[in-house]
Amino acid sequence: MSQLEIKDLHVSIEDKEILKGLSLTIKQGEIHAIMGPNGTGKSTLAYTLMGHPNYTVTGGEVLLDGENVLEMEPDERSRAGVFLAFQYPVAIPGVTVANFLRSAINSRRRAENSEDKGMPIPEFRKMLKEKMDMLKMDHAFAGRYLNDGFSGGEKKRAEILQMATLKPRFAILDETDSGLDIDALRIVSEGVNALSGPELGVLVITHYQRLLNYIKPQFVHVMMGGRIVESGGPDLALHLEEHGYDWLREKTAEETA
Ligand code: ADP
Ligand code: MG
Repeated sequence: MSQLEIKDLHVSIEDKEILKGLSLTIKQGEIHAIMGPNGTGKSTLAYTLMGHPNYTVTGGEVLLDGENVLEMEPDERSRAGVFLAFQYPVAIPGVTVANFLRSAINSRRRAENSEDKGMPIPEFRKMLKEKMDMLKMDHAFAGRYLNDGFSGGEKKRAEILQMATLKPRFAILDETDSGLDIDALRIVSEGVNALSGPELGVLVITHYQRLLNYIKPQFVHVMMGGRIVESGGPDLALHLEEHGYDWLREKTAEETA
């Protein structure tokens, strides 16, 4: 079984330390949720895991089955089985969802075998239809230009479809903090529920405490001040919904005093 291990991770943006010793291990088949107030470094964690150049790792490590993820280029991370759903996906006018997905699959196949001719179109179409049916998506979606004029919910659907076709071992989903878009949260949650199973480890990052109405993580973590300050089961999310984060602020202050 695969595991993604984050050990004592320290990350800075423009010389400001944002992640201050974050540790977390996710095994294939597990669903973890990270919750926490705005500005605490949740998105920083997601971007760092995917290798965004603005985020400087100053300490700690990230290992995928013992291999150093931080030394891999973003495309290598993707091929190694790590998937990041973007909080703000970019539009690519002129490129359809189907073409985008086929290119992604084929470039991955070519990276593994330079002789590869790509997935035959009938096989690709069949696979895409199956995935769209599983996610209850209209087939017309595949013919639209990627994210071009998409609503927030449609962008999320495109991300989930990408995840379904690329079949990662680990998916990291960073939820939008602004506007608490319930529709987008529902779409992501349904997608995760449809795709989850023994092959997939999921990390859902959210600001939204009512997460448990939509998704069933086995592990819930609270992040504050760039670290995980509390971990528990689904009951922790319910507790947060009722009591907010203040009780943890006090607890964290006691620990550092
Ligand atoms: P969260 O996702 O938990 O709301 P972020 O990871 O987006 O938090 O941000 C963590 C901190 O990093 C915040 O204090 C934010 O202001 C700061 N930050 C984020 N992006 C940048 C940036 N590009 N330059 C400087 N500071 C940033
Ligand atoms: Mg964020």
